[in-house]
Amino acid sequence: MTVYLDYNATAPLRDEAREAMLAAYGAPGNPSSVHQAGRQARSKVEQARHTLARALGVATSDVIFTAGGTEANNLGLLGLAKANTCTDVLLSAIEHPCIQMAAQNTGLPIHTIDVTGDGALDLAALQGVLDRLDSDSRPLLALMMANNETGVLQPVEEAAKRLHKADGLVHVDAVQAFGKIPVSLASIGADSLAVSAHKIGGPMGVGALALTCGTQLSPRNLGGGQESGHRGGTENVPGIIGFAAAATAAIDDLDHNADMLALRDHVQQRMLVLAPNAVVLGGHAPRLCNTLSIATPGFAADIQVMSMDLAGFAISSGSACSSGKVKSSAVMVAMGLSDALSFCAIRISLGQTTRRQDLDAFVDAWGEALARIQLKECG
Ligand code: PLP
Repeated sequence: MTVYLDYNATAPLRDEAREAMLAAYGAPGNPSSVHQAGRQARSKVEQARHTLARALGVATSDVIFTAGGTEANNLGLLGLAKANTCTDVLLSAIEHPCIQMAAQNTGLPIHTIDVTGDGALDLAALQGVLDRLDSDSRPLLALMMANNETGVLQPVEEAAKRLHKADGLVHVDAVQAFGKIPVSLASIGADSLAVSAHKIGGPMGVGALALTCGTQLSPRNLGGGQESGHRGGTENVPGIIGFAAAATAAIDDLDHNADMLALRDHVQQRMLVLAPNAVVLGGHAPRLCNTLSIATPGFAADIQVMSMDLAGFAISSGSACSSGKVKSSAVMVAMGLSDALSFCAIRISLGQTTRRQDLDAFVDAWGEALARIQLKECG
């Protein structure tokens, strides 16, 4: 059986979500219909909205369900830019492609803000860009709360303060942070925030955009006026119910974060003993307790991923293969890693089912694969 260590790609469906969804699939009813079946579906959707709103520190009416994190990020960025006549888009250099592509789609000038060597937004660089904007500009910053590759936490609160001082707005991509650390839009002080169900043990293809009270947003999906006119289209009722069940379970599990951190640090330490020259990306920055991104010089990431797959462990690499050519991860380039090192970076991401003995078995198998590579090099 495969040991799954790729939670940042997607988390296995939680039992709570599966059970809630199976019950929902048995009930017909369009939440916009006025008959009893429709009203029951509506009531379930509104209960789920209330759950998400409480979890995210916003009013119930300020949660918009979407078909995933990508759509929530597209809606947040494009919807805020249009409704608030923003003049410039600011992005950290490590944003997810769904933010980068949405930014290009605004047609506005884009200012990419550098990150430090540890992969956190450089606040001085952000301030420099804000100071150089025309006095009548209205900037919109998109900043993720935690990076998907390194887990490094971003200074979202401080960035939001600076943007608001400059008469700007802030959209936060909390897709990786939600369910792994407490996430409250009210505490962050941003204008909108995106989350996704499948990263926390809910179903794929369901997400939400949370808004701060009074935030103006233009819709992107035009249709029947669902989601208070913010997102047309019949709601994915079972998916939304599963999302709320997963969110409740994930938030309960935050109490076990110290155990998760101990597990992550255990695997990290054991790998560093086997490969003392390996580099932990973002190792000196605050980061998600479930994520380890580690580059081992001379041990290509694709070989690591394939040999671990054969040994029964699912992990991922930072580099992406497009048109047959392996490309460095944009995140690692932004952090100043050489191509050679970034091609040797793997990501191990833990979750609620990860056990210490599985991690020990993983490190044993990884150590054997490393020894084989080293032996080849010597021979
Ligand atoms: N933002 C971040 C930081 C992500 O890691 C991901 C998914 O990998 C997304 C957005 C997109 O979310 P979804 O897969 O729900 O579309």
